[in-house]
Amino acid sequence: MILVYAEAQDGKVKKSALEVVYFGAKLAESMNTTCVAMILGNVEDGGKLGSYGAKEVLHVSDASLNHFDSQVAAKVIADVANQKNATCVLMADSANGKSILGRLSVILNGGAVRGVNALPQMKDGKLEVEKGVFSGKAFVTSKVNAPIAVLSIAGNSIKPQVIGSEISVTSINVNVPASKTKVIEVKRTVGIVPLPEAEIVVSAGRGMKDPSNWGIVEDLAAALGATTACSRPVADSHWRPHHEHVGQTGIAIRPNLYIAIGISGAIQHLAGVNSSKVIVVINKDPEAPFFKAADYGVVGDLFEVVPRLTEAIQKYHANQH
Ligand SMILES: Cc1cc2nc3c(=O)[nH]c(=O)nc-3n(C[C@H](O)[C@H](O)[C@H](O)COP(=O)(O)OP(=O)(O)OC[C@H]3O[C@@H](n4cnc5c(N)ncnc54)[C@H](O)[C@@H]3O)c2cc1C
Repeated sequence: MILVYAEAQDGKVKKSALEVVYFGAKLAESMNTTCVAMILGNVEDGGKLGSYGAKEVLHVSDASLNHFDSQVAAKVIADVANQKNATCVLMADSANGKSILGRLSVILNGGAVRGVNALPQMKDGKLEVEKGVFSGKAFVTSKVNAPIAVLSIAGNSIKPQVIGSEISVTSINVNVPASKTKVIEVKRTVGIVPLPEAEIVVSAGRGMKDPSNWGIVEDLAAALGATTACSRPVADSHWRPHHEHVGQTGIAIRPNLYIAIGISGAIQHLAGVNSSKVIVVINKDPEAPFFKAADYGVVGDLFEVVPRLTEAIQKYHANQH
């Protein structure tokens, strides 16, 4: 049985949870087994995981799980994995997933692989698992030798599809250990898709010259339904908030579309973004290193190109209606 830990936020399962459940269902199909999802704490819409391939949704509803604690979550997930004889445990390669992966594999004595980006293959009774390394420049295939595999799945590795229907959620009894920390306050940015989950990202760098010029970036992002990001010096100069900083020392992302505006494409920036599926670069310098990593490039002044691009997208949307 494949067990999927489905993350939730504000009582709703996350998009990444749908991806991992669908991934788990596809893997279960190839292994001739079933995919079971589990949710922790207050989650109202767990039943919808059935639509994405979970045959069962197990709920540990203890109120202490409403705030994520990786030590507690790892123990609870391990308990469910043992009760259900799971041979594989999957989770999103999110900040929470990464914080569970190591602990869980130690408790279960499992074989852990982080950031898996393709469906594993069963070969000679062992799972072979592929992941990207060196910021997507190379791929590593690992064989899991332990009886249980513990895998985190990179975001946007698979497009979740409805392959079943909603199912009812079943409570499961688990001994929830006391947390060693206490959440006092959570302050969250609201209204935008967080960068790690965004499918489209519009990012800008020092070529913008001044923070007051960011309106054209925000307009393009709004036209595309994108999340905004920035290069490090932009965040360091307080032109943009630090949570937008992508790259080696910022957030690593892999959206379907990454639009880089006035960013040179330094290696440290590329480290966090070059796993994006399609990269579009807008830069006035034809020698800018970013063009080497680009799928599409526009050599031009961003102050002319970006508003025209936004206008074209708005026109396209208007014609669709
Ligand atoms: C240890 C370490 C870690 C780092 N980590 C990160 C990281 O995580 N993320 C990160 O981003 N950086 C990181 N950096 C910094 C990195 O090396 C670069 O300095 C940085 O990415 C450059 O930012 P930029 O491209 O916005 O600015 P610049 O390098 O100044 O590039 C600006 C670009 O804008 C273009 N431009 C200017 N005007 C226009 C115009 N009108 N129209 C179109 N194009 C225009 C220019 O041609 C140029 O290519 C790190 C550096 C170190 C040493």
